[in-house]
Amino acid sequence: MFDKILIANRGEIACRVMETARAMGVKTVAVYSDADRDAKHVALADEAYHIGHGPAPADSYLLGDEIIAVALNCGAQAIHPGYGFLSENPGFVDALDAAGLTFIGPSADAIRAMGLKDAAKVLMEQAGVPVVPGYHGSNQDSEHLAGAADGIGYPVLIKAVAGGGGKGMRLVERAEDFMAALESARGEAITSFGNPDVLVEKYIQQPRHIEIQVFGDGTQAVHLFERDCSLQRRHQKVIEEAPAPGMTLEMRAAMGQAGVRAAEAIGYKGAGTVEFIVDGSGGLRADGFWFMEMNTRLQVEHPVTEAITGVDLVEWQLRVAAGERLPKQQEDLKINGHAFEARLYAEDVPKGFLPATGILTHLEFPGGCRADSGVRAGDTISPWYDPMISKVIVHGPTRAVALARLSRALEGTEVAGTVTNLAFLGALAAHQDFARGEVDTGLIARDLDALAAAPEAESHHMVTAAMLALDLIESEQDAGFTLWAPLRRSVSLSWQGEEFEAQVEVDGADRQIWHVAGHEIVANRRGDNWIIGSDLMPKAVRSENSITVFDGYGLVFEVTDLLDRDAHAGGDTNVIEAPMPGLIKAVFATAGQVVSEGDRLAVLEAMKMEHSLLAARDGVVAEVMAAEGDQVEAGAALVRLREESE
Ligand code: ADP
Ligand code: ADP
Ligand code: MG
Repeated sequence: MFDKILIANRGEIACRVMETARAMGVKTVAVYSDADRDAKHVALADEAYHIGHGPAPADSYLLGDEIIAVALNCGAQAIHPGYGFLSENPGFVDALDAAGLTFIGPSADAIRAMGLKDAAKVLMEQAGVPVVPGYHGSNQDSEHLAGAADGIGYPVLIKAVAGGGGKGMRLVERAEDFMAALESARGEAITSFGNPDVLVEKYIQQPRHIEIQVFGDGTQAVHLFERDCSLQRRHQKVIEEAPAPGMTLEMRAAMGQAGVRAAEAIGYKGAGTVEFIVDGSGGLRADGFWFMEMNTRLQVEHPVTEAITGVDLVEWQLRVAAGERLPKQQEDLKINGHAFEARLYAEDVPKGFLPATGILTHLEFPGGCRADSGVRAGDTISPWYDPMISKVIVHGPTRAVALARLSRALEGTEVAGTVTNLAFLGALAAHQDFARGEVDTGLIARDLDALAAAPEAESHHMVTAAMLALDLIESEQDAGFTLWAPLRRSVSLSWQGEEFEAQVEVDGADRQIWHVAGHEIVANRRGDNWIIGSDLMPKAVRSENSITVFDGYGLVFEVTDLLDRDAHAGGDTNVIEAPMPGLIKAVFATAGQVVSEGDRLAVLEAMKMEHSLLAARDGVVAEVMAAEGDQVEAGAALVRLREESE
């Protein structure tokens, strides 16, 4: 086994690889871009080195030569590429070979053989693997391709041969639309992959994406069953599962054999995925699947396979790369239960799944799930890389139990600081057809409006946010509520850009009467909890003026009443001043009184709201310069504490 490996990647996959390496006693080396100095993968590694001259992948994580130099300098023997970046780059593998380093993955030849979809299809046909009917020859003449499409029969799919990530693909329903679609697919293929070549395929109706996890040691290969990745949005996977719902033993055997044949045909070494398109219209049939492409790397959704097989695929990658034979034979591999993975992203779903950025002020996952994440609370989702926050993986004895666990895990996931697709994932996990296992790649698009609906806030959520904004959650015994008459206060908040006002009458430490959105709601303290109306107060966190209530997958309120800052935010801790012009509603301080930091000394009413003025430190009141009913100017001194030396 290696002593030390370098991970040429970032984020969750770099962390994932490091965890297994560490468990195997292998030292880990991270590389990081300008944007990732403080990233989790850097903290997790035994050693970390800065690379490149900018945060963009082309200036950092794609600089193969620089990464190889780091590996040589620090004495790493092998490089794990993760997925994306350099993972399917045969030139990088050649450069490693030349430098005497081991690539934890397949040979350069194997990557080349599968790198272009057209060549891969030819190779698979020769190996006896069924391929999607279509034209994948070298004649790229537009008329010729249009003729091929006529021969295949519409609808057809045009695909960039160098494509990936759903790019360079166009569905064409009618012959008259073919030329325009071809031009646009070629344009995208050139910009994204620098290669204009396309193939034309039969478009499978009601398609399901079912892929086979394969693993080879260069000579022999096994398969670790299938994953169903049919829940897609714009050809991008959203939720994956294993095994595939409705899979028969016969079809699994046929697909598994096809996967193994594909891997052995190219002397495959390491983890790979053979992707098939399946015609889901008449149920799963052993003759109803066709090869689409092979991904010659570890896949994002590999944890669902790990969950049902008990195999650590990264451990297998390291062992096989270090020269071991396959750790298990086919007959030793079994499926145990069912697993799901949901991809949690920083993206604004109601705004068309717009990728988002931000600082994750809060990040917590519930028990009962595996969360593979490359970020921690306090980390930034930057615009430079994939905005994935985490993968949430669950396992259960049956599909129904695993799905219920997925719902619970998503409901219990707490993210603040950026918008996420959590509500969308939750809605998908609750989708009726999905629950019945009736999945196909069109499911999300058919129900997009319902699945992507903006969340709604109820009045108890508004009250929760307002209680946090006014700091009315913690017990106020010290402040001596009982001494004062019921205190009326209010705060302005906004929900999805709409401002609203929440008013409260504080009736002692354990009871508050709220007016919000035209409703009166009474909040009562019961032990450590508040009951708002008839709802238990959900957990909520505040970061600056943003409050996230953890219900409905995270409801974000903004405190728009910026003047409601506690008065002690000012510099001078001796004098409590009026933050704005207003009317003194109450004064609680008396000369000579001993006060503690945070004690309410006075209440100022201004701009139709009441503002508490708090002691900025522990001390003794020297002088009270204001009385109830006074009209004061901004900056007027109201209460002075004795100098600390006095
Ligand atoms: P999968 O089937 O595993 O989802 P994808 O093609 O979606 O495969 O890519 C997997 C991951 O690799 C994604 O997170 C994607 O952002 C990343 N990725 C794909 N291609 C590239 C590339 N050329 N450069 C950097 N990252 C990439
Ligand atoms: P990429 O390299 O972008 O992952 P794929 O060839 O794997 O490209 O296709 C991506 C997705 O597009 C598939 O998961 C599937 O949803 C859809 N798709 C691909 N080929 C077909 C087809 N022939 N018929 C219907 N859908 C297809
Ligand atoms: Mg694919």
